[in-house]
Amino acid sequence: MNNQPTQAEAGKKPPIVWPVTIFFILSNLAAITIVPWYGMEHGYGAAAWWSFFTFLMLNGLSITGGYHRLWSHRSYRARLPLKIFYMLFGTQALQNSVLIWAARHRVHHRHVDDNERDPYSAKLGLWYSHMGWMVRDWAPGEVNYDVVRDLKEDKLVMWQHRNYWALTWAMNLGLPLLVGWLVGDIMGVFLLGGVLRLVVNHHLTFFINSLAHFVGRQTYSEESTARDSHVMGLITWGEGYHNFHHTFQNDYRNGVRWWHLDMGKWFIGINVMLGQAYDLRRVPSFKIQRARLQMLFRQARESVQQSSNDARPWHEIVDEEYKAFLETVRRWQSLQSERFQSSSQALKNRWDKTSVASRLRELEYSLYQQQRRMRALMRAASMPAAA
Ligand SMILES: [Zn+2]
Ligand SMILES: [Zn+2]
Repeated sequence: MNNQPTQAEAGKKPPIVWPVTIFFILSNLAAITIVPWYGMEHGYGAAAWWSFFTFLMLNGLSITGGYHRLWSHRSYRARLPLKIFYMLFGTQALQNSVLIWAARHRVHHRHVDDNERDPYSAKLGLWYSHMGWMVRDWAPGEVNYDVVRDLKEDKLVMWQHRNYWALTWAMNLGLPLLVGWLVGDIMGVFLLGGVLRLVVNHHLTFFINSLAHFVGRQTYSEESTARDSHVMGLITWGEGYHNFHHTFQNDYRNGVRWWHLDMGKWFIGINVMLGQAYDLRRVPSFKIQRARLQMLFRQARESVQQSSNDARPWHEIVDEEYKAFLETVRRWQSLQSERFQSSSQALKNRWDKTSVASRLRELEYSLYQQQRRMRALMRAASMPAAA
């Protein structure tokens, strides 16, 4: 690492990207002036509201399920009809082509929080990571096509990239006008399903780069500023479980528990049933629990150090638990290597396979139990991270 200040830190602001800036100003202004004014003067019908919520959902799911989890992370595979759906409604979200979006996003993961490389580094503040990075010609925003060589082989991705602006006009102007004409409310659908939907969807997606790095808990890792939050999960189609995502970026889920509010995960699940999605990638649950416990131990140790006179006994219990944890991890690792080494011969045997699987489950379960013990312990010692 060199100690040169970054562009932003040095206060040298690069030139404003006027087309983007003017577009953001006009679209946001229209959303807070013309849209409510028209509503007060003429009222909006059910069809206009329906178009707002429907397009908003289709855009959100296409960015989350398509741009993000399918193309940027390749966390599952999809058949052509689903890819075409993602491509069209992702284009309507007006966030650039898949190729450019994925290139920047992969760099974001690789160099997260590095102010010189992360295109939307949260370390440069809420405004910068939300929209500031787009309105000036900052160096980290430059697109590195080398990181998306695989996507250049994807015919649909390249077709969208070449025809991006024609598609954008068709989806953002053509489609709302067509729907408006069909339901007999061109202006209403244009303003709600076109303008307001675009602006709201922009901010919801931008929240993932901004708020999802500021709001919530670091559940699985402190390596990045990314955080997990149910509220953020709810309003970003599941992407608000951002700490999990930055820790395990190849998992198709962001909200990993079944009850986590991750619409993207459920949408992919529905597509599995429809035969449109397959080869879903999941991080082994042992690894997830291991990361979770590591964080609990870290938090417990910090609290123990800060707590009062009776800190000694807590300290001992935490140490003891930690030893047990390391032992479980060691057994899991040796079982894994045993599994890989003997995969060709012995594991063809069904009995061996079952026995390894049940031993793995046992170890997983013991981590789960330990997590519960740790939480109970932390509650008893009134440590803050017990919930
Ligand atoms: Zn990601
Ligand atoms: Zn992020």
